[in-house]
Amino acid sequence: MTWTLTKFELDNPNLLINESLLSLGNGYLGVRGNFEEGYTEGFKSIRGAYINAFHDETEITYGEKLYGFPTKQQKVLNIIDAQTVQIYLDGERFSVFEGELVFCERKLHMDAGFAERIVHWISPQGKEVKIHFRRLVSFVTKELFAIDIKIEPITPINKVEIISTLNGDVSNYVDKEDPRLASGHTKRLHITDVRQEDRYSVVKDTTYETKLDVACVSTAIIQSDNGEYSNNVTDVAVEETFIIEDQKPVHFTKFAVYTDTLRHGDDVTSKAIKLLKQVESKTFEELLGEQKAYLDDYWAISDISIDGDENVQEGIRFNLYQLLQSVGKDPASNIAAKGLSGEGYEGHYFWDTEIYIFPVFLMTNPKIAKNLLLHRYSILDSARQRAKEMGHEKGALFPWRTITGPESSAFFPAGTAQYHISADIAYSYIQYYLVTQDEEFLKDYMAEVLFETARLWAETGHMQNGEFRIDSVTGPDEYTCIVNNNYYTNVMAKHNLLWAAKVYNHLKENDSERLQQLTGQLEMTETEVVGWQTAGENMYLPYDDTLKINAQDDSFLKKGRWDLKSTPAEKFPLLLNYHPLTLYRSQVLKQADTVLAHFLLEDEQDFKTMKNSYDYYESITTHDSSLSSCVHSIMASKLGYHDKAYAYFNETARLDLENTHGNTKDGLHMANMGGTWLGIVYGFAGLRLKESGLSFVPTLPAEWNSYEFRLQYQGRLLKIRKDRETTSYTLLRGNQLTITHGSQQLVLKDGKEMVVE
Ligand code: BGC
Repeated sequence: MTWTLTKFELDNPNLLINESLLSLGNGYLGVRGNFEEGYTEGFKSIRGAYINAFHDETEITYGEKLYGFPTKQQKVLNIIDAQTVQIYLDGERFSVFEGELVFCERKLHMDAGFAERIVHWISPQGKEVKIHFRRLVSFVTKELFAIDIKIEPITPINKVEIISTLNGDVSNYVDKEDPRLASGHTKRLHITDVRQEDRYSVVKDTTYETKLDVACVSTAIIQSDNGEYSNNVTDVAVEETFIIEDQKPVHFTKFAVYTDTLRHGDDVTSKAIKLLKQVESKTFEELLGEQKAYLDDYWAISDISIDGDENVQEGIRFNLYQLLQSVGKDPASNIAAKGLSGEGYEGHYFWDTEIYIFPVFLMTNPKIAKNLLLHRYSILDSARQRAKEMGHEKGALFPWRTITGPESSAFFPAGTAQYHISADIAYSYIQYYLVTQDEEFLKDYMAEVLFETARLWAETGHMQNGEFRIDSVTGPDEYTCIVNNNYYTNVMAKHNLLWAAKVYNHLKENDSERLQQLTGQLEMTETEVVGWQTAGENMYLPYDDTLKINAQDDSFLKKGRWDLKSTPAEKFPLLLNYHPLTLYRSQVLKQADTVLAHFLLEDEQDFKTMKNSYDYYESITTHDSSLSSCVHSIMASKLGYHDKAYAYFNETARLDLENTHGNTKDGLHMANMGGTWLGIVYGFAGLRLKESGLSFVPTLPAEWNSYEFRLQYQGRLLKIRKDRETTSYTLLRGNQLTITHGSQQLVLKDGKEMVVE
């Protein structure tokens, strides 16, 4: 059960939610779980397919546009629809919304990489049939989407007619009332090619502004001797019609191959045809075999097994599966806030990647993690340019939200002002280095990113009375904007600055040639590096002597406290019901801020300060952002609040499966999905990754009997298992390793299991 998500609902809100939950993807291509045959009036659907990073740009219109505001916004596009397949049985159109539905079940197979729909239906005129739909987005041929349909008549059916469509007339979804969705610019693609060629349907669309092409070439195969075939090419679509009159079961398969300019260069159509020719000889079963083999490898390392709670088990597997389906695996792509499952946040990449998702891949699949870093590296020039636009002479300011580099946030208080994203990116580079010890990577990419981000902090902050202060920025909590000395920002900037200086010195000792080359290229001086060291060492970290907590920023604790207990339930999330200024004026948090900083850089404070801070901030945190509960769970584990840790963890594990944030229809919450993994590995198991190595402080939620997971670390593979009495560590692969368990040092030897209390 826990490898398969099963759904039955056919009512309105659930149809949309299930489209996101049952979406398929591979990091390049994503297809929502729409019905092939479409919908009947009154039943809602967001029909969508997306290519990671395939976007257009739209003008941002401001009432009052000030200097440095971005003028254009990128937006991922809903692309050519290959999902549509209509079925007619003796002239009657198949639809689950008409006639009698004896049975209808939908399944997502997370171990096997496909979705299916099993339908038993009686038409309004009494024709009875079983139809079995299966679909996959290939993990092996990233451009391929395939549908397989078996139609089995139960009462005699003389004529089965199948109309398979490839449609280039597509638009994006909008909702003017929800700031998390686009409010305009639905149509950004025009059709530049539509034709039939040797039984291949070909459609090419081009974006209005960016002039990027996307092509889809499809072919359909029917296993029947008595079929009639015809096709019809319109201005916008190609329709292929198959008529079968042999009263036998019908087996139909459709292959659709997508290509785009960002990955395939010019002439996307002929590349798609070529690719299709390479894969069309495979059967659907063979494609399923490829999916299974790919996923066997993935789960062998990434699975977390939990004994004692099937619901959580299903939740964690679903989250890990969807992360894999959404994470970009080529240098043109990262992972969008909603992955490839919907249009929320317009396909943009945020800090969600570095702080919530990157750690999962870092410790289970470093190749994917590296790709995420390389994508950030590929937009370093845009970040340098943005720093200049923002008045800095040097350095790199990464955009708050983007696809290919330009800042796409029109609301700067909770957008561009979140300067911390640059330190978050630096943090992930440092983590990568700690896990891989990849010296080449340090020389080729990490040093440059750290130097350029350190420069940003050196310019953004200033020394005053011997302390380095950073004014007018926004921390992670979007209900508190444009403040001086946000604790999170300052502590992350400190880490960034000190590591930049450390990497400089490391290169000086180990590869002075490369250092010279880099400092020449960046026109960097040693005086700058001394400045980073001084700024880092003297970073001001706000602390309140009375409350004995880290203040979120200089003014936060002086504001009035928002009365959360008296706020009516229907007023949440607050961002949809209060003007931002109302929120900024009060002590109220959308999401973990200081608490998150304490998780990421715990050695900056003592235990008591972290505990006091947690107690204080917890009572004024709404968790209106889905990025919050997991952090509270991790810190509750650390602080010994085990019931709370479990309760917060439970909010993350099934957030989309239960639609607890009410907007799963717009796409899945990827950062939260990473947060579930973090909640177990960093929370319950207490993993910390530092220069000193790996340490664990494992605990077991009272509701569970045990849990088990694997981690990659410096070329090794480790298995960690926690049950009621003991923890066991097994070094499955790699050289001997010393780790810390609580306060004990353990030496792990190849293949041996070490069991401790
Ligand atoms: C959160 C941000 C997050 C964004 C995208 C917002 O609601 O406040 O922290 O980056 O969603 O997930």
